[in-house]
Amino acid sequence: MLEELRAALGLLGCLTGADVPEAARSDTSRCGRHLPLALLRPATVEEVSAAMAICHRHGVPVVPQGGMTGLAGGANPGPEAVALSLSRLNGVEEIDREAMARVVRAGTVLEAAQKAAEAEGLLLPVDLGARGSCQIGGNIATNAGGVRVLHDGMTRDNLLGLDVVLADGTVLSQLTRVVKNNTGYDLRHLFAGSEGTLGVITRAVIRLRPLPLPRGTALVALPDFAAVLRLLAMARARLPGLSAFEAMWRDYFGFNQAQLGLKLFPEPPPFAVILEAEEGEALETLLATAMDEGILTDALLAQSLTEARRFWEVREGHIMDAVLPGLINLDVSLTTGRLDAFAGACRQALLGRFPGAHVSFYGHVADSNLHIAVALPGGGTEAEVHGVDAVTYGVVRDFGGSISAEHGIGTLKRDWLGHSRSPAELAAMRAIKAALDPKGILNPGKVLPPE
Ligand SMILES: Cc1cc2nc3c(=O)[nH]c(=O)nc-3n(C[C@H](O)[C@H](O)[C@H](O)COP(=O)(O)OP(=O)(O)OC[C@H]3O[C@@H](n4cnc5c(N)ncnc54)[C@H](O)[C@@H]3O)c2cc1C
Repeated sequence: MLEELRAALGLLGCLTGADVPEAARSDTSRCGRHLPLALLRPATVEEVSAAMAICHRHGVPVVPQGGMTGLAGGANPGPEAVALSLSRLNGVEEIDREAMARVVRAGTVLEAAQKAAEAEGLLLPVDLGARGSCQIGGNIATNAGGVRVLHDGMTRDNLLGLDVVLADGTVLSQLTRVVKNNTGYDLRHLFAGSEGTLGVITRAVIRLRPLPLPRGTALVALPDFAAVLRLLAMARARLPGLSAFEAMWRDYFGFNQAQLGLKLFPEPPPFAVILEAEEGEALETLLATAMDEGILTDALLAQSLTEARRFWEVREGHIMDAVLPGLINLDVSLTTGRLDAFAGACRQALLGRFPGAHVSFYGHVADSNLHIAVALPGGGTEAEVHGVDAVTYGVVRDFGGSISAEHGIGTLKRDWLGHSRSPAELAAMRAIKAALDPKGILNPGKVLPPE
């Protein structure tokens, strides 16, 4: 098989043994350990198709790899699989200004695609912290969320068309640029969020938007979660250019503010929220009204980009990685109105099981997405970390929430998928997988738990 692959892809396109870089073993979750049989690096759609046809004939598993920034173990190969990296299939293709759309190859790094759009005076509306390494194909395969979801939706909402290579090498080309296209099943949405289990994404048509105006940024203090919800309703109604509404519970804001040596608010309030909107003046007026109505107890309006950056530094919480060894970042979603009730129940359950642990909450409230930062005393053993998952996802199930808002399932959340999906839904997913990949060679063992 390796000889056939070398003949199809050339020596640069098929690496084995010591030539396979360490980075091909694990994504950013760092839960992978295995050297794959080979690392395939096709440079064209035809090469992806040829590689898949060969692997299919030999019944060898294939694990698609993008920028390896995933946090769920989805791109990690086993020792019996070949890894298929899209990195050489990169670059932007033509732009269609009338359709506000651009064809982008799957291996293009997100930031490069964003810059190419900006050079045309347009915005590519997918954006996340890993922008410098993650790839468009990986963003689609994980249906990435990120920091613009409130305004522009998830990755799938900005996807007009797709080229996908199926398990047997068939190229399924649907590079459409139209917004309205009710011609039977919408196949592109099957592949968005499929985490490499249904096909290899090779090219995509991404919808572009006008570049946003300069934004106003505010950090506000609120007395309770009811006030957070009232502010969100006001902001949605009055700020059409609202692009961020990020809430931090007192435990998260207080911890990060102190670690950064900042005193943005003298005492950490029960809730702090960052708002960002294109309408700077309207934002200021809204804050004044909210203050008058007792929704806010304090408000800071950034007077410079440096000041706005300082607000975001607290929210991004990068310092936690340095000061909390073994930090666990959980990503779940619950109905917006129940986020605080969930946070209370989850905090109580985690601290009941792990006294002395750090537990704090923050999230994209408008997207019903909550992140939970947990650090166990002494870093925690593998079994204890598993225990954190069990406790948290148990509470998520009790609240009827989702165990993954934006990071995907991969291997790390696979065994909990039944907490958020019914047996009928799992059966439908298995039927789709069997129809598109009857030999089960595409990213086996990911997403779907064993029956
Ligand atoms: C600092 C940081 C910040 C992050 N912030 C966010 C965030 O705000 N929101 C968010 O949603 N995620 C976030 N992530 C997670 C991660 O960046 C995203 O999941 C991203 O979309 C993964 O893209 P990737 O190219 O790195 O994919 P990889 O990690 O390489 O792969 C992810 C999955 O997609 C599959 N895959 C990759 N490419 C293809 C392809 N071409 N065809 C088919 N399958 C493919 C893989 O098999 C795997 O299952 C963050 C990660 C980091 C490290």
